Amino acid sequence: MNINVIGGGLAGVEVAYKLSKNGILVNLYEMRPQKMTNVHQTPYLAEVVCSNSFKSKELRNAKGLLKYEMDRLDSLVLKMAYRSEVPAGKSLNIDREKFAKLITGYIENDENINIIREEKKDISEDELNIIATGPLTSEALSANISKILNKGSLYFYDALSPIIDGNSIDKEKTFYGLRYEKGEGKILNFPMDKEEYLQFYNELINAEKVKMKDVDSGIYFEACLPVEEIAQRGEDALRFGPLRPVGFREYIDHKPYAVAQARPETALYDSFELIGFQTRLTFSEQKRVLSLIPGLEKAKIIRYGIMHRNTYINSPEVLNKYFQTKNNKNLFFAGQITGVEGYVESAASGIITGLVVTQMLKSTGEIQLPDESTMIGNLIKYITTLPEKKFQPMSSNYGLIKREKKEKREDLIERSKISIEKYREDQRKRGVIFD
Ligand SMILES: Cc1cc2nc3c(=O)[nH]c(=O)nc-3n(C[C@H](O)[C@H](O)[C@H](O)COP(=O)(O)OP(=O)(O)OC[C@H]3O[C@@H](n4cnc5c(N)ncnc54)[C@H](O)[C@@H]3O)c2cc1C
Repeated sequence: MNINVIGGGLAGVEVAYKLSKNGILVNLYEMRPQKMTNVHQTPYLAEVVCSNSFKSKELRNAKGLLKYEMDRLDSLVLKMAYRSEVPAGKSLNIDREKFAKLITGYIENDENINIIREEKKDISEDELNIIATGPLTSEALSANISKILNKGSLYFYDALSPIIDGNSIDKEKTFYGLRYEKGEGKILNFPMDKEEYLQFYNELINAEKVKMKDVDSGIYFEACLPVEEIAQRGEDALRFGPLRPVGFREYIDHKPYAVAQARPETALYDSFELIGFQTRLTFSEQKRVLSLIPGLEKAKIIRYGIMHRNTYINSPEVLNKYFQTKNNKNLFFAGQITGVEGYVESAASGIITGLVVTQMLKSTGEIQLPDESTMIGNLIKYITTLPEKKFQPMSSNYGLIKREKKEKREDLIERSKISIEKYREDQRKRGVIFD
């Protein structure tokens, strides 16, 4: 039987890697470059499309703990992320091109993985399929998924922040530093006085936006609101959000009125992504409004902010806890299309689907999952358990893992470490190969 992983993104490469490691031959379908999404820009597998940050490395941070567990389960994405790391304090930030090239090179050289560069539109019941086509799943496949699952796909809209050419920034008006954090500052800050802020704010709320039917009727993911949408909530909304002027040692005596921030995109500091500036302003308006921020008067925008469609299925209704569809045991899902939210979470779900399919094909006995002492185990549970309210995408957070209010983070970390080690060892004894 053919084993097909559809989509060579962060989840798809983890699934293919896990199966290959375990001696299972797989076809990996990737439609790029033959057919591009409206966000991806390269032919590489595992292209990271927006921020270059895999977020915190600290275990006290949920994403840090998730990464620790993924590391123990032999994550290809993390292995290559560490090899392409760009210094960013406590955060794991990557050089996106180096990262994607490393992953692509690795998968291309893997004899068990056959990369097929074409858009997969149909799903055959005679093959085992793992759909990992992400938030920008092609329309033909989306339509077929809806048919197969007998449910319409859900969707919401998300937005990208602009990236600025570092050489076009007037650095004299900026400073490097992290809000409230000690250590080396790697974030570029743009302080503004009251007059500058108010001018920027007034132009922002009145700027021309790209019209989008669904967005205009208010379908947003609350954690990823466009900057102009936050601004609409009041004159100070941005000063309590992405432009808050607090936590900088440089300004003990004289606090700026607002501080915009930008994250370096590469180790060379030659381009910067504005933080929290997701937007659907028209391109010309982005140029005009951003130039009102001191330091960005002559900014050259390398990539404009845009809105995009984010497709995900109603997982609790259609999947069991193994990311397997309830009505077809040979059809699995992985990645953001299941409703996990974020690069790291998508890769994590790819690891789990890879492990599930490996156990199934190697007949290792009853399929085992990491338990609820782990961040990854709780994420799976959230995604596949029927919610009380409407199902919403979810990223890792300590709320998922806590059993009692009073539990200390150190205890949760310890419990996760013990549990993931036991899981790995149990799997290994049953014949699953890691590393
Ligand atoms: C614009 C945008 C901005 C984002 N910003 C962030 C961010 O800043 N931080 C963050 O953590 N997450 C962000 N995300 C979410 C991010 O996409 C996911 O977290 C992650 O990339 C999802 O991984 P995935 O493997 O599920 O999908 P992807 O990485 O998107 O991979 C899916 C792959 O499937 C391919 N494909 C699609 N349809 C087909 C088909 N029919 N046949 C063959 N191949 C197909 C695509 O070309 C793609 O390569 C953003 C997403 C988008 C779209």
